[in-house]
Amino acid sequence: MAKRKKDEEYRTFQDEWTEEFTFVERAGSAVCLICNDKIASMKRSNVKRHFDTRHATFASKYPAGDSRKKACQELLSRVQASQQQLRVWTRQGDCNSASFAGSLAIVRNGKPFTDGEYAKTFMLDVANELFGDLPNKDKIIKQIQDMPLSARTVHDRIIMMANQVEETQVKDINAAPFFSLALDESADVSHLSQFSVIARYAAGDTLREESLAVLPIKGSRVHHPSNECSLNTADLSYIPGVSIRDFEAEVADLKASDMWVNKFKSLNEDLERIARQKELASKHMWTEMKKLQPEDQLIIKTWNALPVTYHTLQRVSIAVLTMFGSTYACEQSFSHLKNIKSNLRSRLTDESLNACMKLNLTKYQPDYKAISKPMQHQVY
Ligand SMILES: [Zn+2]
Repeated sequence: MAKRKKDEEYRTFQDEWTEEFTFVERAGSAVCLICNDKIASMKRSNVKRHFDTRHATFASKYPAGDSRKKACQELLSRVQASQQQLRVWTRQGDCNSASFAGSLAIVRNGKPFTDGEYAKTFMLDVANELFGDLPNKDKIIKQIQDMPLSARTVHDRIIMMANQVEETQVKDINAAPFFSLALDESADVSHLSQFSVIARYAAGDTLREESLAVLPIKGSRVHHPSNECSLNTADLSYIPGVSIRDFEAEVADLKASDMWVNKFKSLNEDLERIARQKELASKHMWTEMKKLQPEDQLIIKTWNALPVTYHTLQRVSIAVLTMFGSTYACEQSFSHLKNIKSNLRSRLTDESLNACMKLNLTKYQPDYKAISKPMQHQVY
């Protein structure tokens, strides 16, 4: 009984270990301040052994007693100061991702990069009034003040986010079985030709139409109607890796399967229902239309669900879905280009114009938390 009690006593951290062996308690273990090692069992003998064997130099430099105490306290306050610094970095991380969010809002609203400073002043003025009664008002104000949002910062953040979106686009296009490209050119407000590249591809159950690049055609002022390049719908031989014989056999198979015939029947009904809803919504509110499920997604989901025995059929359907159905994407791209160029008075460099276009047209959300994480340590 007595022995057991003694053991239990040993299992709790003893404060004097800090001044004797430079150990502190952290999350239930004894942690060495010198090497950050953890001691699993909280026993004086283990802590002492670690200190004597691993930190003999420290032990002889500061012999047990006042000298050791002083050295240990100094060490402790240094560690505490660096933890404080770490908390500052983490907070800075919040400000960083806030400044990404702010930069994205600026570019998506077609505002010039210099509006970052204005947005900050606006937020500070409003916060002063809005949060006046809150106990942590000072903290809120400080966080807004600390948020980097200068024109230079907005510019850099936008380039970084556009690069990240591009990486995702490339990754998804590489993984897609097929993709279509629409190439279009148009003259901008300064009458320079701009070349726009839009890709259409399936990523999982989602069909994507993404603007890959807007490129200036240097030194030329060509004016001719737009061209789109896409697959010819009538001819299966355009689709790589498809055998007509397999295709026909799978079509016959599918027609004989009640289950799949019913699935496509109900897909048809869903599509008709959405078409009716769209017609109704178009008479009232455009915002309602955005909430409706895109037809593309329903169609591709059904095809993706087909078992591997219908592989050829599946490939053909995805290839057909990957074709451009309209020139809408190109038109949208150039109307954005016109807005951006006229709002920013065509002062943009090619790099930032491309980044603005990409962030305005993409359906991907830039993951700015992921971008701002590795930046935390560059702040200081
Ligand atoms: Zn140690």
